[in-house]
Amino acid sequence: MDGSDKLFQAIIVGGGPVGLTLAHTLDQAGIDYLILEARDTVLAEEGADNVLSFLAALASLVLTPNTLRVYAQLGILEDALKAGAPIGTTHVTTWAGKPTRNSAILSARSQESHGVRAHAYHRLHVMQVLYETLAPASKQKILTGKKVVDIQTTRDGVQVHCLDNTTYEGSIVIGADGVHSKTRGFMRSMALAAGADPATVNPEKPLIASYRCMWGTFPTPAGSLPGDADNCHGPKQSASIIHGKDWSWFFMYECLDEPTQARRDYTAADMEAFAGRLGEMHVSPTLQFKTVWAARFPGCAGMSNLPEGAVAHWSWGRVVLAGDAGWKVTPNMGMGYNSGVQCAVALTNALHELVHGRGVARPSTRELEGAFVAYAARRQDRVTDLTMSLSRMATRQTTWPTTTNAYTWRAYQFLDWLNTLVPGLEGLLYTHVISNIMRSGMVLDFVHGVEEPFAGTVPWTHLFHTEPAKS
Ligand SMILES: Cc1cc2nc3c(=O)[nH]c(=O)nc-3n(C[C@H](O)[C@H](O)[C@H](O)COP(=O)(O)OP(=O)(O)OC[C@H]3O[C@@H](n4cnc5c(N)ncnc54)[C@H](O)[C@@H]3O)c2cc1C
Repeated sequence: MDGSDKLFQAIIVGGGPVGLTLAHTLDQAGIDYLILEARDTVLAEEGADNVLSFLAALASLVLTPNTLRVYAQLGILEDALKAGAPIGTTHVTTWAGKPTRNSAILSARSQESHGVRAHAYHRLHVMQVLYETLAPASKQKILTGKKVVDIQTTRDGVQVHCLDNTTYEGSIVIGADGVHSKTRGFMRSMALAAGADPATVNPEKPLIASYRCMWGTFPTPAGSLPGDADNCHGPKQSASIIHGKDWSWFFMYECLDEPTQARRDYTAADMEAFAGRLGEMHVSPTLQFKTVWAARFPGCAGMSNLPEGAVAHWSWGRVVLAGDAGWKVTPNMGMGYNSGVQCAVALTNALHELVHGRGVARPSTRELEGAFVAYAARRQDRVTDLTMSLSRMATRQTTWPTTTNAYTWRAYQFLDWLNTLVPGLEGLLYTHVISNIMRSGMVLDFVHGVEEPFAGTVPWTHLFHTEPAKS
């Protein structure tokens, strides 16, 4: 059967957090899908033979209020709240261990403005919540061990080819295959092969990294409160530690000597060397990084460059990108997956409107392109720009970019110092930037009958339809 005979079906490349979120949003929209995931499992720690997926699981994810609201629409909020720790106070110390600042302003403002704080998680626990709450029939739609190696589009559909010689046909492809997205590359090749003006096609490497990060998990130190963070800011390097209920997560940042577009796979020896360089750094007045490193769960840490940027073109024909595949920020503000949730929401809204709102059961390529343009507009708006700028600034303000000129990095150092001197500045940042991002969070506009879970002093821009759907 080719794509033209089937009802609408999305083929999602990648069963990471954004792929699994799409499973939930498309379920809500009554849109069929299939997820093709390269790894042997979507719950990374089950794949103990897969070292990379095991390492990837060993980091935290912070879920912000706009994501928790979407989780309420998906019916998974309670499970998510149980698994996480509300963010509390951030403690900042100097490299030598002198405390400079304790601030709970951001978490207090979040509670006051939006009725909930961001929550910190072990990444695997978020994946478990997303996977375990899917209906059995939806779990059947997730196929693992399916590395996508080629995508072709026909007039009426798509064909997706996997390394194991299997082929899947559907109506569209959603590339949720992460920062090094192959789908993004296939999109580019298809556009060029179709004679598109190269100036209107995404470059081969649209992202650029100016920082690297090493992360890992260790037992929460005695006396550290779940949800609190310990930070050390400095020239070229910095530390950020987030404490969870039983485990804590470290993120050690370093400014690269040169910005790069090349992918770098760090070895265990690279990580040991980096840990050695940062060993004497205090991550709190009583704790040096060498102690954290020694306490990490055996062999458990990951390291990568941190690409930043966004694609100019989110789709080509029947292929569209979502999550890190299209847009990547540094992790300091914890906005990556949260922004990917906004992709899932905006894309699902656009597809629901086309397939159910306008009743187009088998949309043409032109109709789909229209829906994807509407989606891309939501991913290229002021809120998205604000999120990107906020993440960029947070990284540079904590890890002063000494490899740029002295005026630039001293300006970031000054800004950091000003934040310590004038605590109210963080409040202003929350009110004028972070709260704007949270307030403007999109929700599924076709879901009815779900109560708004959170309310604060700042009204939500996009409201829930709390009344039941008209039959
Ligand atoms: C250290 C660190 C800390 C972070 N902390 C936070 C945080 O607190 N909050 C937050 O919101 N974000 C955070 N992020 C960002 C967040 O991890 C990403 O934004 C998020 O994982 C993106 O999800 P994704 O599903 O788009 O991509 P990924 O997580 O990269 O998942 C992509 C999936 O696609 C699969 N895949 C890839 N290629 C193929 C192929 N050819 N065929 C089939 N499958 C394929 C992969 O195996 C993977 O499962 C952090 C990132 C880092 C590095």
